[in-house]
Formats: sequence, C-alpha cells, structure tokens
Amino acid sequence: MSQLTNTQRKLQSEAREFAQTILRPNASRLDLAGGFPREWFRRCGELGFVGASFPVEYGGLGYGYLETVLILEELAKQSCALGAALSAHIQCAKVLQREGSEEQKQEILRPALDGELLLAYALTEKNSGSDVLALETTAEKVEDGWLISGSKRWITNAGEAQAYVLSAKTDSRRSRRGVSLFLVERNTPGLHIAPIEHKMGVNNLSVGNLSIDGCRLPERNLVGEAGRGYDISHIGLDDSRLYLSAVAVGVAAGALEHALDYTKRREQFDRAITSYQGVSFPLSEMYTNLCAARAMLYEAARDIDCGRSIRITAAALKLFASETCCRICDQALQLLGGNGYSHEYEIERYLRDSRMLKLAGGTSEICKVIISNSLIY
Ligand SMILES: Cc1cc2nc3c(=O)[nH]c(=O)nc-3n(C[C@H](O)[C@H](O)[C@H](O)COP(=O)(O)OP(=O)(O)OC[C@H]3O[C@@H](n4cnc5c(N)ncnc54)[C@H](O)[C@@H]3O)c2cc1C
Repeated sequence: MSQLTNTQRKLQSEAREFAQTILRPNASRLDLAGGFPREWFRRCGELGFVGASFPVEYGGLGYGYLETVLILEELAKQSCALGAALSAHIQCAKVLQREGSEEQKQEILRPALDGELLLAYALTEKNSGSDVLALETTAEKVEDGWLISGSKRWITNAGEAQAYVLSAKTDSRRSRRGVSLFLVERNTPGLHIAPIEHKMGVNNLSVGNLSIDGCRLPERNLVGEAGRGYDISHIGLDDSRLYLSAVAVGVAAGALEHALDYTKRREQFDRAITSYQGVSFPLSEMYTNLCAARAMLYEAARDIDCGRSIRITAAALKLFASETCCRICDQALQLLGGNGYSHEYEIERYLRDSRMLKLAGGTSEICKVIISNSLIY
C-alpha cells in the first residue's frame, strides 16, 4: 500500500475516529430524516478537516491535497453526503484561495475553513451542463459593479450555503474569454433558492436551483480577473474530480466492509456463504478494484502537491473511481441478498448515494472525452 508520513497517518486516524464515532451511528437515521447535518460540517471545520490543505495564515493546517483526500475518504466511508458537501465546499474555497482578493479571503475563506460558512460552486444551468460554454446567465457591467441575471441548477449545498461562486457571461459571444466568476452572498436581493426535494440519494446533501433576478454586485465581488472564469473553473473542476474520487473510494471501502461483515456471518446450506466462490470471488474483485482506485487517487493528489497539472489524470481517476464505486456498491448489495434491499442494512443507501458520483463534477462520458482528446489530438 501507498506510503504515508506519520502526520498523514495521524490525520487519517483522526478523521476515521470522528467518522466512526459521530457519523456511523447516525448516518442511516439522518438519511431517512433528510436535511443537511450542519453540526457535522461545523465539527469538521473545528477539527481542521476542512482547512487541511489551506495556508495557516487563513486558518488552514498548511498541508497538501493528499491530506484532504485522506480525510474525505474516511468521512465518505460513513457518509457520502458529507463527503460530497465538503468536496464542493473545498473546491470553492480553493478557487478563493487561488483567485480571491485579500478581502474575500478574510471575509469568506477564513470562516469557510473554520466551518462557520458553507460555500457552493454554481456552473450548471438548464441548457448548460456538460457544455459549460452554453451558459445563459449574464453579468452586465454597470456603474460601480455588475448586474447578474439568469439561473443555475443542481447546485450542491444550495440553500444551506451562505456564499456562492457562480459563473456568468461577460461577453455575449460563445467564448472562453467571455466567462467570469462572481461571489454572491445568500442574502443578496434578487437571489432565490429552491431545494431539489426528491433526489435518488444523498438525502443529507442539500442540492438546489438558483434564480438570479437582477442581483446587483459591487466590483469587489468579482472573483479573479473578468474573462478568466472558464480557465479558473477548469482548474476547479480538476480539484472537484480529485475530491469526488476520494469520496468514491471511501464509499466503496464502506460498502466492501459491510459486505464482508455480513457474508462472514451469514450461513446457507449449513455453511458460511463465504465458503462459496460465488461469494468470495466478488469480494476479491471488489478489494482489487478498490486498491487500484485508491492507488490512482493518492498518485493524483501527490501530482498536484508537486505542482503538476492533473487535467487528464483527474479525468481518468474520476472515471475509474466513480464507476468502480458504483459497481462495488452493487456487488455488495447482491452479497447481502434480500436483506441488502432493506433500509435496515445500510448497503442500499451506499448504492443510491454512489450513483451521483458518475454525474457530478463531469459525467463519465465527459471524462472519456477529455482522456480520448488528449490521446488523439
Ligand atoms: C447530486 C449532484 C450534485 C451536483 N452538484 C453540482 C454543483 O455543485 N455545481 C454545479 O455546477 N453542478 C452540479 N451538478 C451538475 C452536474 O455537474 C451535471 O449534472 C453534469 O455536468 C451533467 O450535466 P447535465 O446534467 O446537464 O447533463 P447533459 O450535459 O445534458 O448530459 C446528458 C447526457 O449526455 C452525455 N453527454 C453530453 N455531452 C456529451 C459529449 N460531448 N460526449 C458524450 N456524451 C455526452 C452526458 O454524459 C450525459 O450522459 C450536480 C449534479 C448532481 C446529480
């Protein structure tokens, strides 16, 4: 297995301890009740899990991406919803760290790392999903600032987040240089948020649609330079693919653990079902694929920590980790037989939750487009 430093192991075991004592006993009950567990988010901020890879001067721990990935994996092993909420939040915070003004860092980034302020990253629209340049939300330059109008869909943390980084067109033509990013606070007049009530899974992840009806923003709410929103977003998407892959590895590891625990205790035809290769071989396959996804994940995190671009690596990682996770969750449910189909055994939650990982942060097909384009052109 991959070599980790003592500090990384310590952080990993702190995250594991928190996940096992706080998340594990409550995750299924909260999944049935729904709603975002803000207290979990707040505790993750206090424990340094949110700010692990951020500079100490803004309240972070000063470590790298690998440390964040180790934490997300442990949390997602018990709660995919918390892992996905933190992935979007940390993705957004990284954009502010890299591109934000000093004022944005002090007022938004610092409380975001402490777990006091939740962030959301809003790119997707009704007619602009995989095709990010098809966005219709506009930002018009007005005296002293910008006037934003449009809408966003499927935004993680929407409703719960106090601040949104959103993309808008600052040029009427379809152009990479015609997209800018803006920071919109939840109480801004003209911003309306509607939660998506009936999702397939991740019941504790708040996801919603935004309607931006003529929001007036001061100049200081621009994130980075005007016209650089597309490039900034793409680096953010590389980050997001890494974080969501960490969630995928965590969810898959959790599903394998449940399957092992159950099958070792279950007897049929007077023998433990693990004595049948029909049961033990899927367990071997699940373990092997999980190890491969985890190795790719740690390698990609180390690449970013060494300053390398991970555009292709992140697409390949996200494709493999999310597809592997969904397959492992499905195999795990099968190994529990009929019981796997019941709320009483948590595996059905893992399977429902895992499905979002092949969609958010760029679908599996879009990951394939990125990879094949790099191979062919
Ligand atoms: C739970 C959840 C959370 C999300 N959180 C966020 C968030 O925080 N912020 C945000 O901005 N968005 C978020 N999204 C939206 C997500 O990023 C989009 O759903 C995704 O990018 C796909 O866009 P779309 O839904 O419009 O599908 P479409 O782009 O319409 O795609 C439909 C189908 O066509 C395929 N397809 C499209 N173009 C191509 C192509 N060129 N080649 C091959 N196949 C193609 C897709 O792979 C897909 O199978 C979230 C989605 C979910 C489900």
